[in-house]
Amino acid sequence: MRYFKKFVNHTGLASATLIFLGCAGLAAPEKPVVRPPNVVLIFTDDQGYGDVGVFGATAFPTPNLDRMAHEGRRFTDFHVAQAVCSASRAALLTGCYPNRIGLPGALGPNSKHGISSHETTLAEMFKQKGYATGMAGKWHLGNKPQFLPLRHGFDEFFGLPYSSDMWPLHPEAKPGAYPPIPLLEGERVLKADLTHADQEQLTTQYAERAVEFINRNKEKPFFFYLAPNTPHVPLHVSDKFKGKSGGGLYGDVIMEIDWAVGEVLAALKKNHLDENTLVIFTSDNGPWLSYGNHAGSAGPFREGKGTNFEGGHREPCIMRWPGHLPANSVCKEPLMTIDLFPTLARLIGADLPQHKIDGLDIWPLLADLPGATNPHEAYYFYYNQNDLQAVRAGEWKLLFPHTARTMNGQEPGKDGVPGKYRPLPVVASLYNLRTDPGETKDVAGENPEAVKRLEALAETIRADLGDDLTKRPPTGARPPGM
Ligand code: MG
Repeated sequence: MRYFKKFVNHTGLASATLIFLGCAGLAAPEKPVVRPPNVVLIFTDDQGYGDVGVFGATAFPTPNLDRMAHEGRRFTDFHVAQAVCSASRAALLTGCYPNRIGLPGALGPNSKHGISSHETTLAEMFKQKGYATGMAGKWHLGNKPQFLPLRHGFDEFFGLPYSSDMWPLHPEAKPGAYPPIPLLEGERVLKADLTHADQEQLTTQYAERAVEFINRNKEKPFFFYLAPNTPHVPLHVSDKFKGKSGGGLYGDVIMEIDWAVGEVLAALKKNHLDENTLVIFTSDNGPWLSYGNHAGSAGPFREGKGTNFEGGHREPCIMRWPGHLPANSVCKEPLMTIDLFPTLARLIGADLPQHKIDGLDIWPLLADLPGATNPHEAYYFYYNQNDLQAVRAGEWKLLFPHTARTMNGQEPGKDGVPGKYRPLPVVASLYNLRTDPGETKDVAGENPEAVKRLEALAETIRADLGDDLTKRPPTGARPPGM
């Protein structure tokens, strides 16, 4: 005999699922076993805040993401730890600032370093509890064998070791700059030299992997990481969506991502796993604005990828777990990807690593429990490489003097060929993100106390992770794998 029952436990989790296993007629009483939730984490590449219907997109439709938001919870102040691919992924998977684990910036095919075997990834955390773990998409935490997903907690992997523009066929690639990109199955090279035709199929293939994984693992807890390498340039889309969005090739690509999300949700529904699966959707950084009509939109926010203005690191985020997260709700509190690690660990009862991580448990905010607040005093420490360029606490964001980049006033990129950024000198400035989310009015002069407080908070992270802008060495950073 086998049946399921719900309960409300003492942690405030709305309800977890109990599985009673046993056979009628045996003397031993049935023992309840808590079945922890499955998690599907969808992490797109360079999708802007404004590139989802419920976050303001009008140039193309995203019906599945919109439905996911109506059935789940939308986060309007959700951030990545750095506005660039490798660093953002490193933070997502470890709960640490990228600088803590030696992975700021973006790795290339010739990088000698990658994620250290001493770090604990989400997949390894889920493995503590016997989860099946799988991934499809872009990895980008090192492409030597010791850095690949199978060495870091994933049972299976299908995808690319790094970005799809680090590719001899990319319009911007100088001759000889990049080796061919391999498509990997685990650590085996499925195809040594990716073509345009191959790239057009990837988003669909990733979705198919996710669906097949869910179907195959429906009887046990699972974690799947779906990380499409789109809408990062060079844009590719399958024939299913070519010319279909009304929003150009970029819109077509978003439509295919949206379709992939719909495939995942349909697979969960078909397997009766809706109420036992937390699905998280967000992106690794904001739009790559120099690509013009091949870049997305940061919506109301300033600048994009590679900057520490909001357009660089604030992302569209949706979470869905029927019966556990309030449907059709909005969380406006500031949150960051580093918090997912400890939050998911708490949900499944896994131990945190012995080493320091930077994220904190934000379950009360996800579940909208009464009185829930952000547990960090300040935590938006925004680095570019090892330059501390900004810090955020509550409504305040303090920018330190540095040079950013902008396309304002520049000839825009077109059809896959980028325009040229110009340097943007940034002076010390304070923004109130509650009243001025577009970071247009420096209010440092009127708010000396806020400046002082954020300066002091910045000092705490400089003493820990260092800061090249003020020539401070790190004391709490760990080396990457070499
Ligand atoms: Mg990216």
